[in-house]
Amino acid sequence: MAHVKASAAVSHVGRIRANNQDSGYAGHRLFFVADGMGGHAGGDIASAIATHRITDADATYRDGHEASVALEAALLAANRRIGETVADHSELTGMGTTVSALAVLDDAVAIAHIGDSRIYLLRSGELSQITTDHTFVQRLVDAGRITAEEAMVHPRRSVLMRVLGDVETRPEIDTMVLDTREGDRWVMCSDGLSGVVAFDELQEILAADAGAKQVADRLVKASLDGGAPDNVTVVVVDIGEPPAPDTPPQIVGSAAAPLAFGQSETPRTRGIRIAPFRPHPVQETHFEPDSEDYFDEIIEEDARRRRRRRLVWSFWIVLLIGIIVAGVVMAYQWTQTRFYVGESNGRVAIFQGVQQDLGPVSLHDLYLETEVDVSELRAYDQLRVEQTINAGSLADALVIVKRLEESID
Ligand code: CA
Repeated sequence: MAHVKASAAVSHVGRIRANNQDSGYAGHRLFFVADGMGGHAGGDIASAIATHRITDADATYRDGHEASVALEAALLAANRRIGETVADHSELTGMGTTVSALAVLDDAVAIAHIGDSRIYLLRSGELSQITTDHTFVQRLVDAGRITAEEAMVHPRRSVLMRVLGDVETRPEIDTMVLDTREGDRWVMCSDGLSGVVAFDELQEILAADAGAKQVADRLVKASLDGGAPDNVTVVVVDIGEPPAPDTPPQIVGSAAAPLAFGQSETPRTRGIRIAPFRPHPVQETHFEPDSEDYFDEIIEEDARRRRRRRLVWSFWIVLLIGIIVAGVVMAYQWTQTRFYVGESNGRVAIFQGVQQDLGPVSLHDLYLETEVDVSELRAYDQLRVEQTINAGSLADALVIVKRLEESID
């Protein structure tokens, strides 16, 4: 007999977004997250509408089949309600939401899932991802076109192929029934967690000896520490004894606030329309056509982008090499304008270049060997010549030689 020993729902707006479009629900037997998105407004409304509709399915079911049928029906009802809301409020066109829901039964859980929120199971310290993302990049991974690692950083990683929204009347929803037992820890989260915190870190945090609420808080904190570019929502359910006391269901995120679009019923004051929603940028795309032509077109577009990037890189590398070569040539030419006085075959000599060598490259050549013997010079001048005397130009070098010659007694 599986009891819910403890549960917790936590939602945070994150560090970048202006509002929270996620919702989370931790009820008696039902638990879920809903990550809203779309258009210039409405993601928060989509997830709130779905949440309010799906909480109706928080009931006790006889078996897994009955539960999964009820969950699927609840998600489809939420989909209809979002469509109806868009029909009444055209400014909300394009809004949608993911839903990943889990109902706890006697010895099993029933799951209904659409979108890129996730359900994980921690059992005996091992974490497994239970749901599959309905994303464009997941399709590329399934088709063997990219690896899971490439999917994590793919520019289109947030594009969803399936979602509850105003586009499809009957979107395909994944359902499953899995066994559960004492000690299992089920986790639902939005991509604000799974897209930021690596799998190993998720497992480490979830496997810690801590309660559901503490673990949910730690997961949100891990996402915040990772920059939290998106809203982050986590629902944790622990299976075991004793059963949790009967507390009111917990709703977090956008569904916890009253729906805001009722304001559009009184839209005018002195002829100026009051915007019913706060304007905010939304980076995610919630739906793209699910046709093979489109699929191939996007792959081709990615390939073109990669080729362009390679071309741009090649240009900069060639330019950089050109600059380095030009610099070396100019430096060498400068050394050849320099002269110094030194010794060659026991005679005072003039050298062109600088005394130093650059590794195996000599930066000087004998220019002129004079008739003056170094040994005839004064001891002090002999030392100077051996150590070489700098001369800016050839004329300077000739003057130095002349003076050395004159100094001989
Ligand atoms: Ca999200």
